[in-house]
Amino acid sequence: MNKKLCVIGVGLIGGSLAIALRRAGFCEEIIGAGRNVDRLQVAKDLGVVDSFTTDLVEAVADADMVFVSVPMGAMAAVFKQIDGHLKPGAVITDGGSAKVSVMKDAKEYLKRSYSQFVAGHPIAGTEQSGVEAAFGELYQNRRVIITPTYDTNKRAAEKVTAMWQAAGAQVESMSANHHDNILAGTSHLPHLLAYGLVNCLFESSDSENYFKFAAGGFRDFTRIASSDPVMWRDICLSNKSALLDSLSQYQSELDRLKDAITKDDADQLLSYFQSAKKSRDKFNF
Ligand code: NAP
Repeated sequence: MNKKLCVIGVGLIGGSLAIALRRAGFCEEIIGAGRNVDRLQVAKDLGVVDSFTTDLVEAVADADMVFVSVPMGAMAAVFKQIDGHLKPGAVITDGGSAKVSVMKDAKEYLKRSYSQFVAGHPIAGTEQSGVEAAFGELYQNRRVIITPTYDTNKRAAEKVTAMWQAAGAQVESMSANHHDNILAGTSHLPHLLAYGLVNCLFESSDSENYFKFAAGGFRDFTRIASSDPVMWRDICLSNKSALLDSLSQYQSELDRLKDAITKDDADQLLSYFQSAKKSRDKFNF
C-alpha cells in the first residue's frame, strides 16, 4: 500500500480518483493541493481529501504518488513548482486530456524526476466540473491510456497501472502521438461540434424557439457543450495539430453531405447513412 497520495487539482477527475483509491485501500492518506483554499476546504468537508494546502512543495514533500489533474494550460507551472521537491522514488502522473504537450512540459520542467513521470489519461468524465461532481465509480470498467517512453522508469509505469486498476479501470499503453490522434477524433472533435452547434443556433434571432422546440437528439448531441470552457480551450490548444486534422476530415464529410443534398442525390445520402449506422451499431456503449 502507498502511504500518501497527493492530488494536485481536486476537481472531477482528481476528486473521483481520490474517492476510488480511498475505497480500494490503495493509500493511507490523501492530501489535496490547488490554488483556492475555499474549494480545497470543500474537498476536505466532502471527505475526498484528509488535508490540503496551496503550497505545492509542501503537498508533494512526502507523497509516494502525485496525481496532477489541473487544466492542460496549468500543467507546466505545476511541474515547475514541484520539480526537485519530490521524495526519492515518488511517482508522478497526470490525467490531462492530451498527452504530447504534457510530456513536453514534463520533459522541460520536471528535470529531476522526469523518469518517474508516467503520463496518463482516463477515458472517463462528465460535463460537470469541480469536486462536488466527483464520484468513486467514475473509472469503473473504463479505459485509461498511459503513454510511457523509453525514458520512463518501468516500476513507475507499473505503479501507475496498479493505481488505475485499483480505481476499477483497464489500463492500455500507447504512444502520446497515437493517443492524441485518437482522442482528437473521439473526444476533442465532438466537443467542438457540440459547442459549434449550440452557438450556431442560439446566436440566431430565433434562438428562443430553438430552445423551445429542441428535443432528445439535440439534448444528447449538445450535452457536452456544458463542459468547462477553460478546460476545453486548453485541450484544443494542447492538441492543436491532431485536432486540426480531424476538423479538416470532418469538413470533407460535411462537404460530401452538402453535395448530395444539393444534387438531390437520394442514393448517395442513403448509402452514406447506412454505412454510418452500420459502423455505429457495431459499438455496444
Ligand atoms: P475540474 O473539475 O475543473 O478540476 C480542475 C482542478 O484544477 C480544480 O480543482 C481547480 O481548482 C484546479 N485548477 C485549475 N486551474 C489551476 C491552476 N492554474 N493551478 C492549480 N490548480 C488549478 O476539471 P477536471 O474535469 O477534473 O479536469 C482536470 C484534468 O483532467 C484536465 O487536464 C482535463 O483535461 C482532464 N480530463 C478531464 C475529463 C473530463 O471529462 N472532465 C476527462 C479526462 C481528463 P480551482 O478550484 O482553483 O479552479
